Amino acid sequence: MNIMNYPLIAGCFLISATVLLSACQVTNSTEKSSNTVSEQKNVNNSLKFAHTLKGRSDGKGYDLVFVADGFTQDEMVYFHEAVNNYRTFSEQYENVFAGQQNAWNIHLIQIPSNESGVDEPKSGILKDTTFDSSFECEWVDRIICVNQEKVLDVVSEHFPQYDTILVLANSTRNGGASLGNNIITSSMNRNLNNTIIHELGHGLANLGDEYTYGGVNLPATEPSQPNLTLNNDADSVKWRHWLEDENAWAINIFEGGNYLPSGVWRPTENSVMRTLGQPFEAVNLEAWSLALYEHSGTYYQALPATGSVKQAGDEQQFEIELALGTDLQNIEWRVNDVVVQASLPNLLTVNDQKQSYVVQASIVDSSQVIRKDSRHVSQDTLTWWVSLD
Ligand SMILES: [Zn+2]
Repeated sequence: MNIMNYPLIAGCFLISATVLLSACQVTNSTEKSSNTVSEQKNVNNSLKFAHTLKGRSDGKGYDLVFVADGFTQDEMVYFHEAVNNYRTFSEQYENVFAGQQNAWNIHLIQIPSNESGVDEPKSGILKDTTFDSSFECEWVDRIICVNQEKVLDVVSEHFPQYDTILVLANSTRNGGASLGNNIITSSMNRNLNNTIIHELGHGLANLGDEYTYGGVNLPATEPSQPNLTLNNDADSVKWRHWLEDENAWAINIFEGGNYLPSGVWRPTENSVMRTLGQPFEAVNLEAWSLALYEHSGTYYQALPATGSVKQAGDEQQFEIELALGTDLQNIEWRVNDVVVQASLPNLLTVNDQKQSYVVQASIVDSSQVIRKDSRHVSQDTLTWWVSLD
């Protein structure tokens, strides 16, 4: 299915998103007073309903927070099931994603709503839900707004490290939006998982929409997105390092993108940024992987901390907690500039030194999906200067 026919694209337009934001706030402020009592009750109860499903909660890695709205206590199992489905789905979307899972954290806010469902004002359906989800926002049937202030209040209280908030509204009717403030809404429709991946393409990797519907004006300057360009010259196009790669046969310069049929170019005929459910393709996957490193770093922790180390005893261990892990990252260890074999890829034990020595660990990405890393976000060299007691 082409994304141009898909309801959620409204949120992809920056202009609509801005308009949407204010429209939603107006809508919600009128509903707010009637919900005050239940809101207070729910927020007070929320502590036990905030829960980390996967990963860590110390702010390292990319933090997705799923927020339930319009689910009663009895229905919360469906919310949980949807998040678990997304988790499995996202781990398998691209081969390389399995090895990137260590950098993803999933948190849940599951405050039961007083009533089940989502507001549908045109039909006179108004539900008392925790975050006031409503279809028909900004007079577009499929756009789902929420009370963003409430969402941000609750999420910030429990998961201040959030990167993207996904409000799942309890309806199977098609809809959703990207509201700004890192908030994405969606109903429980059949494209939910694909939509989340597409939206994270925007949110994490700064990828642009590659479809050709709805645009009016050419961008005034070269787009910042790695997958869109005004320059169709093969010698200087921003993804030219892929054009030289004979294995990347799908990469070329295709006209159309950024909602315009001409004047803007994209790297592949089709991709996840053009049609829901499609593969990322090389240029987008590289951008995604670089962005993940940029966000998480190459490692979370080194033990001991890098710098000066005093070795007590006969041996010293050096350990690195990698951001992604050894499936996608290699470490080359050196002692006094000589490459040495580590006991485990991320663990070196040194026990044969008679005087001060230097240990270095060079971390590189081994995923094969990154060909050009101008800002060196996928590599690091750690150094310890060790003196003996
Ligand atoms: Zn989009």
